[in-house]
Amino acid sequence: MNQRTHSWIAVRAIALLADEGKEKNLVKLLKPHARKATVGAWIPDQVDAKRGGAGSATDNHVLKMELYDGDDEERFITPKQELLKRIGTARRTASFLEEDESLDDSWWSTPYRGDVPKPGQHLPNRAMALTTMMKDLLLMGDPVVDRLVPGRIRFAQYMDLEMRTTAEAASMYFFMLSHFVADACMPCHCDGRKLAAYDEGLHKQLEGHWSKKVGTGFEKKKLLPPDLELTESEARADANRVLQQARDVDDKFGLEFRKPVPGLRPKQDVWLELINVCRASFAVASIIAPPELYPYVDPDARAPFDTVLGQGKEQLRDEVDKIVMHDAVLNTAIVWKHLWKKVSKLDA
Ligand SMILES: [Zn+2]
Repeated sequence: MNQRTHSWIAVRAIALLADEGKEKNLVKLLKPHARKATVGAWIPDQVDAKRGGAGSATDNHVLKMELYDGDDEERFITPKQELLKRIGTARRTASFLEEDESLDDSWWSTPYRGDVPKPGQHLPNRAMALTTMMKDLLLMGDPVVDRLVPGRIRFAQYMDLEMRTTAEAASMYFFMLSHFVADACMPCHCDGRKLAAYDEGLHKQLEGHWSKKVGTGFEKKKLLPPDLELTESEARADANRVLQQARDVDDKFGLEFRKPVPGLRPKQDVWLELINVCRASFAVASIIAPPELYPYVDPDARAPFDTVLGQGKEQLRDEVDKIVMHDAVLNTAIVWKHLWKKVSKLDA
């Protein structure tokens, strides 16, 4: 996804949590900074941000699945019903895969493994690492954050205010996290075929197609906070407006969000949850570009957007738009809520 779409996903996830009912502290933390989602949710794709990590080679964040032919076959097979159970019915991708008949039994009983050639690229690792660190950082909040996170942190008295996490920093971390979660929902991020690489057609074209639908309202220059002092009530009205603007995009994709936002499944952590989401996204990529026509082992195969999702494929395209956008927002809200629950047992 590009900057516009990532901004929308993050703001829409705040609105989804706000719509759950009485305003929770997590919403109170994020909502005043909603416009800044355009910065935070895009940081992981900034060239400079990709310089960090092992050997300055963090590069991309993907989990590109390939055919696996090692000794540990069992581990890399996820039968269809098992995957559907793991991702749960709240995710639209689950019903899409359930109805699909194009991927047959042999597809589902083949081992696939995410190929991550460089350290730091593994998408679920990135999301898990950030989530774990955020739990610590939220406990060390400045007075504004501290008011939203119940429970006394006794060692905090020894920390200078400057050492503590501000609401601005905390919301930026949430927005960065939304980026990784959303990317796990992008089929091309989870498919090891060359045809799914960013500059090989489908990937970039699909992202362009989505951002056109999201619209210019989520363009950075429109979303960044206006350079003027707002009173408290003006700021609140402005934040409400931004959240509403995000809800208004739903119609363009035919989205309907159900309440409440579920938690992670029992015994799952963010890593496992995203591994399964990535596996489901790989299945979606394999429905868009069927391996019979675009073999996993053919480095020359390309599946341009117009061929696989263009004229005559409108129904598939609309479905893909809907499940990816719905689940990117929902998964973001699920992971945020999970994280918040961990630091804030009384809330969320
Ligand atoms: Zn990205």
